[in-house]
Amino acid sequence: MSTAREPKLVIAIDGPSGAGKSSTSHLVAERLGCAYLDTGSMYRALAVWCSDRGIDAADAQAVIDAARDLPMTVSPSSTDFAIALDGADVTARLHLPEVSGMVSGYAGIRDARNALNEKMREIIAQAGRIVAEGRDITTVVAPDADLRILLQADAARRIARREAELNGAADTTTVTEQVVGRDAKDAASSQFETPAPGVVLIDSTELTLEEVVEKVIDLVPEQLRWPEEH
Ligand code: C5P
Repeated sequence: MSTAREPKLVIAIDGPSGAGKSSTSHLVAERLGCAYLDTGSMYRALAVWCSDRGIDAADAQAVIDAARDLPMTVSPSSTDFAIALDGADVTARLHLPEVSGMVSGYAGIRDARNALNEKMREIIAQAGRIVAEGRDITTVVAPDADLRILLQADAARRIARREAELNGAADTTTVTEQVVGRDAKDAASSQFETPAPGVVLIDSTELTLEEVVEKVIDLVPEQLRWPEEH
């Protein structure tokens, strides 16, 4: 949490799956003394809540009602990011393949997005210093952020990274569908393929994680960089 002495700082990072948003955002947040918000996990939590109650993404009104009333608690920590639904920690479930497979359907419902966007803005305002990542943070959720970045990488590199993360647990065809197929579905609800005006594009295809993190930190206005430089 930020104190009165620390300058406020909001960094928004968007991009497709496998571009390195999460790893980059975590490290930048830790180094700059920021909270961390994974907005994709909020959509995943909505999907989990709905599917546990038999609410299909085809039932848009039921999903919107669920999103508006969602008893979701987000702990926006750079080291222990967690989400609870009705008091129960669901963080470990959020990245299961079945959730990845269904989340885009729920995230495609406009008024459900509006409800979650409000929650995201509250978390960002309360944190003071925060790195928030997703698909539409630079454009819709926090268009007035101090720094807005679109992190891109070639599809082949993104697929290779996801395969390495999964450590042989899925074949290339499955991983390709997870990465490219999900991006295609998500592109219908948010624009994360080209940078909006004022958004800095970083292509991570040929960069190491450390190089991307350094590029991001270099772009933060110097007077906002506390605590790294104090
Ligand atoms: O970032 P992650 O892959 O965990 O996001 C999961 C899903 O949440 C995305 O595939 C997308 O459907 C949705 N999402 C979104 N807008 C965001 C963040 C995520 O629609 N800002």
